[in-house]
Amino acid sequence: MATGKINVSVENIFPLIKKFLYSDHEIFLRELISNATDATLKLKHLTDIGETDVAYGNPVIEVKVDKEGKKLHVIDQGVGMTKEEVEKYINEVAFSGAEEFLEKYKDSAKDSGIIGHFGLGFYSAFMVANKVEIITKSYKDEPAAHWVCEGTTEFTLGDSDKKERGTEIILHINEEDQEFLEENRIQELLVKYNKFMPIPIKFGTKEETLPLPEDAPEDAEAETKTVDNIINNPEPAWTKQPTELEDKDYKSFYRELYPMQFEEPLFHIHLNVDYPFNLTGILYFPKMTKDMNIQKDKIQLYQNQVYVTDNVEGIVPEFLTMLRGVIDSPDIPLNVSRSYLQADGAVKKISSYITRKVADKLKSLFNNNREDFEQKWNDIKIVIEYGMLSEDKFFEKAQKFALYPTVENEYFTFEELQDKIKDNQTDKDGNLVVLYASNNDEQHSYIQAAKAKGYKVLLLDSPIISHLLQKMESEKEKITFVRVDSDQVDNLIKKDEEKISKLSEEEKEKLKGDFEKVIPKEKYTVQLEAMDSDAAPLLITQPEFMRRMKEMQQTGGGGMFGMGNMPEMYNLVVNTNHPLISEILNTKTEKKQERLIKHSLDLARLSQNLLKGEELTNFVKRSFDMVK
Ligand code: ADP
Ligand code: MG
Repeated sequence: MATGKINVSVENIFPLIKKFLYSDHEIFLRELISNATDATLKLKHLTDIGETDVAYGNPVIEVKVDKEGKKLHVIDQGVGMTKEEVEKYINEVAFSGAEEFLEKYKDSAKDSGIIGHFGLGFYSAFMVANKVEIITKSYKDEPAAHWVCEGTTEFTLGDSDKKERGTEIILHINEEDQEFLEENRIQELLVKYNKFMPIPIKFGTKEETLPLPEDAPEDAEAETKTVDNIINNPEPAWTKQPTELEDKDYKSFYRELYPMQFEEPLFHIHLNVDYPFNLTGILYFPKMTKDMNIQKDKIQLYQNQVYVTDNVEGIVPEFLTMLRGVIDSPDIPLNVSRSYLQADGAVKKISSYITRKVADKLKSLFNNNREDFEQKWNDIKIVIEYGMLSEDKFFEKAQKFALYPTVENEYFTFEELQDKIKDNQTDKDGNLVVLYASNNDEQHSYIQAAKAKGYKVLLLDSPIISHLLQKMESEKEKITFVRVDSDQVDNLIKKDEEKISKLSEEEKEKLKGDFEKVIPKEKYTVQLEAMDSDAAPLLITQPEFMRRMKEMQQTGGGGMFGMGNMPEMYNLVVNTNHPLISEILNTKTEKKQERLIKHSLDLARLSQNLLKGEELTNFVKRSFDMVK
C-alpha cells in the first residue's frame, strides 16, 4: 500500500473546486461518463488496430445508485489503468490541468459561468463527494489498483482484487448533495447530458411490454419483461450521412430531441463539414408561434455527442437561434467567455457557415417546390426577415427567395414585384412606389381604394417589418415603400390626368377655414383634394415617415433613440368633389355646419380605428338619436 501527497502547489484546490463549480455541480456525472466513454473508445481503437487481442465485446457503461450506502457508482469496461497510470493520470496530469485552469480563471470564472461548460474532468467528482474511490484493472495483464481520496491532497493507492477489465468510480455523496442518490434525479441528468453518447449507458432496469401474438384471444393480457434501462441512442441522426437518412428519420429524430413537441418541423438542414473546422448537426425550422419569448426547445450544442448547453448565443447567428436542433463541434472553445467567443475566428467561420447553409437550403426549397415554399412562408418569414435585417450576407442571398405576398395571396420575389408594378406605380422622380398594408381588416377601405386604381398592395405584417423596409429603401435604388393609409399614396403616384375640383378657389378657401375652425389644429392638418365623387368625403391618413419611425421605436430599432415621443399627427383629407362636402360648404347655420363636420370626422376616425372610449360612446349615442 502506497500513500502519498497529490502533487499540487495550490493547497486549497478542493475548496476552490467546490466554490467555483457550485452553481453547476451536476456536471460531475457528465464528466465521469465522458471518461468512461473515452476509456471504452480507446479500447475499441486498440483492438481495431491490433494493439491488443483482448475481446472488445459489447461494452456498456453502468451507473448505479446505492441509496443506503450513500454511494454512486460509474462502471465501465474500457482500457482501465495500471497503478502507474493512476499515478500519472490522476495524481499528476489531471490535477495540474485543473490547477492551471483555476489559476488562469480565478477572477473571471465565477460570474461568467464558464467552468460549468468546461468541467474539471475527473476532479469534478469532489463537488458532490467527500470521498472518491477508483477501482481499476487495465486491459494489460497487471493487477488491479485501488485509489482512495477524501477531498484533501492526501490519497492512498493500493491493490484490488477486481478481476474484470475496466474502471469503477465510487462517489461517497456529501450530506448536502443527497439529491444525487435519487434515481429520478440521476435519470434526469443522464437524459440531459448523455442521451446521444456513443457507448450504451445502463441505469437499472425497466419493464417492457411484449407484443401479443397474432392469434392471441381478445382478453389476453400482454406480458411484460424486465430489460436493461438503456439511456442513450449511441448513433443519433446527425452522426450519419445525409444520404443514409430519409425524411421520416429526420422527423423521428426531432421527436427524440423534443419529446414534448407535438408539432412537426417544417423542414430540416443537415450540417456536415470537416474543413476548416469540424461541425455536424441538424437544424429544424419549426412553425413559429407569435409568442417568440416562450421558447424552451432550443438548439442544443454537443461536443462529440456530449451535451454541453442549449445556449448557443455567439455560435449560431442570432436570427437562427429561433430554430431547433443539434450542433456538434469539437472546435468550439468553451473555456472562454461569451464575448470572447464572438470574436474568435473559428467561431466566426462556424457562424457564417451556418448562415450560408441555411440560405442555400431555403433557396433550394424555393426552387424545387415554390408552391410548398409559399405555403410555409408565413411560418418562416420572421426568421428570414430578421436574418435579412441583421446579416448583410443573408440579405443578399435572400433576394432569391424572400417573398412579398399581396393582399390577394399572390407571392412575389422582389424582382418579380418590381416587374409587375414598374409601369403603374412610379412617382414623379421615377421611384418605384411599393404599396403595402399591415392588416387586411383595419386598412380595408384603403386597400380597396388602392386596388380600384389597379395598384398592387402587399400584406406585410411582421413586427419588424418597418425596420426591414427602411433597410430595403437604403439598399435598393429608387424604391419607396408606402402604407396604403399614408397620406402620400395619392400624391405620390404619378397620375396621367389631374383631377379637377368642382370648387372654385374662393370656395376652397372658405371650406378650409370652416374645417379649421372646428378641427383641433395640433392633431390634424386639413388638406383639400379633388378625388372621385364616390370616394370617401373625408379621409384620415398618417405620414409614412412618422408612422414608420414610431413603429421602429416601439420594436426597438437601433439608432432610433433621441427621437423622444413622436406626437400623433394626422392629415385630414377633404374630398372637394364629394356631395357631402358641398353640403357642408353651403350650410348657412354655423351650428349645423359644425355638427356636420364633427360627425363626419368621427366617421372617418371610426374607419381608421381611432375613435375610442368616451368619444366613441358619445358618437354612438348621437348616431342613435339621429336615426330615431
Ligand atoms: P481528461 O478526460 O480531460 O483527460 P480527466 O480529469 O477527466 O481529464 O481525466 C484524467 C485522466 O484520467 C484521463 O485522461 C484518463 O487517462 C484517466 N481516466 C479517468 N477516468 C478514467 C476511466 N474511467 N478509465 C480509464 N482512465 C481514466
Ligand atoms: Mg475527462
